[in-house]
Amino acid sequence: ALFVPLALEGGPPAALLLVSRDPSAFRPAELRVAAGLASHLAAALHATQLHDRLEKAFDELHRTQEQLVRSERLRVAGELASGIAHEFNNVLAAILGRVQLLRLRAREAALSPHELEDAFGVMELAARDGAETVRRLRQFGKDEVADAAESVDLDAVIREAAEFTRPRWKNAAEGGGVHIEVSLESSPGAWVRGNAAQLREVFTNLILNAVDALPRGGNLCLGTGAQDGSVTAIVEDDGVGMTPETLQRVFEPFFTTKGVQGTGLGLSMVYGIVQRHGGKLAVRSHPGRGTRIELSFPRSTAAQPPAPPEASAPVGSLSVMVVDDEPAVRGLLVDILEALGHRAIGYGSSESALEDFQPGRFDLVLTDLGMPGINGWELSQSLRAKDDSVTIAFVTGWGEEVDAERARRAGADAVVAKPFGIEDLARVAQLAADRTRRRAA
Ligand code: ADP
Ligand code: MG
Repeated sequence: ALFVPLALEGGPPAALLLVSRDPSAFRPAELRVAAGLASHLAAALHATQLHDRLEKAFDELHRTQEQLVRSERLRVAGELASGIAHEFNNVLAAILGRVQLLRLRAREAALSPHELEDAFGVMELAARDGAETVRRLRQFGKDEVADAAESVDLDAVIREAAEFTRPRWKNAAEGGGVHIEVSLESSPGAWVRGNAAQLREVFTNLILNAVDALPRGGNLCLGTGAQDGSVTAIVEDDGVGMTPETLQRVFEPFFTTKGVQGTGLGLSMVYGIVQRHGGKLAVRSHPGRGTRIELSFPRSTAAQPPAPPEASAPVGSLSVMVVDDEPAVRGLLVDILEALGHRAIGYGSSESALEDFQPGRFDLVLTDLGMPGINGWELSQSLRAKDDSVTIAFVTGWGEEVDAERARRAGADAVVAKPFGIEDLARVAQLAADRTRRRAA
């Protein structure tokens, strides 16, 4: 017998065993062949072992990667949640601050129509930005949907952000005996392609950071500039400034030097938004001297002026049924419709609405979808069965998710998404008036 050990690195012991009945077997030439065979065998076995190990390593890698992706998703979701909370706080602060200010001024009987109009403008914009935030939140987890891009005037965006934050730099600061001088150096033609609400968020954050950096007051300079291919914006304060260590970390999510007062998310969100807009961002800061943040974006062309609204026939006074179990929404719908010159009756449930409904009595029905008892879908179907000429519209917080085809099958003619504006209700009223007129003709 010939026993040839196979040299296998790190593997189990192995050998090649050759047996012969011939006593003169295994001559030197045959020994050489056997040794050669053994070394080839060893190499082949080694290769299979390596292959197995490689496959295992791949599997392992794959599993780890999946775990990483999962934890990254969780991290992003967590960040998103606090980011949203952060944005809502800005929006709510803008609205709350304005409302309280208005009440104060009204008590002093010092309210001018101009001031009122301004404050309403800010509150309306803030609420719309909040709605945009909700829309973006809904989009999270779905396939990346491109954010609506439009031509945005950076100058207007900065002006609006300054208005938004006025309660913080004006009232709160002056309440504490601190004066912050805000100046705006604007240049026309600072057009950027992107999303106005997100860009407003950028400057709101930068201004709030500057205000935080001015605990004893000082100057906050805002500015825009338009060059050939690019647009720049500057937010500069002469506040406390940053140490080089802080400066290095400002864009890290959750990095804050403000303790529980800060979220550390402002600048990381700013960074993300600026990147999505193809922009760049540079920060210069010196402790005790202040901070200058410069942003630049590719320049875009001016927005097309909106087409003049199509002249439509006057609507006249409609009879409207409003069904919503939420008293605040129901009351608002009734008030807006009456302000638009219609007669509206509110119902707190589908049941009470059905009881009161008679064919021909109403031109328009506005109904919520999710209600205890008979829901909006079922209500619409029942009403449609009784009266096929009434206009029915769903008013819902699920606006984008409501399938138009399904709504049509349930008898509805239109879907109004919450939060709705007066113009949305005017549009539905127009629709109802047109239908009523067509029927009469
Ligand atoms: P937060 O404002 O919640 O702390 P940010 O991401 O907006 O989170 O800012 C991170 C940190 O960057 C701040 O805590 C602060 O230390 C520093 N910082 C940002 N802007 C300025 C500024 N204008 N002046 C001084 N420090 C700033
Ligand atoms: Mg901040």
